[in-house]
Amino acid sequence: MEFIDTHAHLDFEYEDGITPQQIVKEAFDNHVTKIITIGSDPKSLKKIRDIADSFENVYYSLGIHPHEAKDFNSDIEREILTLKDKKCVAIGEIGLDFFYEHSPRGVQKRVFVKQINMAQELGLPVIIHIRDADAESYDILKNEFKDFCNGVVHCYSGTKEQLKKYLDLGMSVSFTGIITFNKSLNVQEAAAYSPKERIMLETDAPFLAPVPYRGKKNYPKYIPLIAKKLSELRKETIEQVAEYTTSNAVKFFSLN
Ligand SMILES: [Zn+2]
Ligand SMILES: [Zn+2]
Repeated sequence: MEFIDTHAHLDFEYEDGITPQQIVKEAFDNHVTKIITIGSDPKSLKKIRDIADSFENVYYSLGIHPHEAKDFNSDIEREILTLKDKKCVAIGEIGLDFFYEHSPRGVQKRVFVKQINMAQELGLPVIIHIRDADAESYDILKNEFKDFCNGVVHCYSGTKEQLKKYLDLGMSVSFTGIITFNKSLNVQEAAAYSPKERIMLETDAPFLAPVPYRGKKNYPKYIPLIAKKLSELRKETIEQVAEYTTSNAVKFFSLN
């Protein structure tokens, strides 16, 4: 069995003394053979590329999270273009977060559109973060991509009905440890419903550790726990989940 963690933040804080070397090794020991470390903070874009460059099977994405949209400027745009090399597999995470609203809504929207356009020019897929902003995000995606959006809604936490709208745009979806939480009935229903050609797995480490580690730091090595839960929800075997989620991720991000 082989899994891919399509969304982790290897540059963030983990438990004391735990290095990216250890995190990646433990992931590999648990069948998680590839990891994508995700851009979010303008100050750490170079750092995530350096982390990816130090491991054969770690890739990266570049982008500014909606929380930090207020810090986006032309220097950062240039930096993204400069840092992008062959292991950069997407632009992200980008999107709208109206729950925390760390950046004003109008700024978030403008920076979201700007980064979508950068991805289109670079020919890269987009990794989308949406929280409490489904209607606005959908409108932007529909408007910018017209008939087909080469994007993934990461850390899906909405309903089946909302998911159907994103799928109709051509998008994929990735699920985190949220599907292992008891009260996440909506997300569990969405996970059971998604067509298998569109599903990928992610931890969003260090956040959102799956049960039984809920509340602690999360690591890419926990992907099999999320896969196990997904297999139960979908009445499949974990081997089947491993096979299609891995092949979807390889295709979506053009991993080799
Ligand atoms: Zn996110
Ligand atoms: Zn994230």
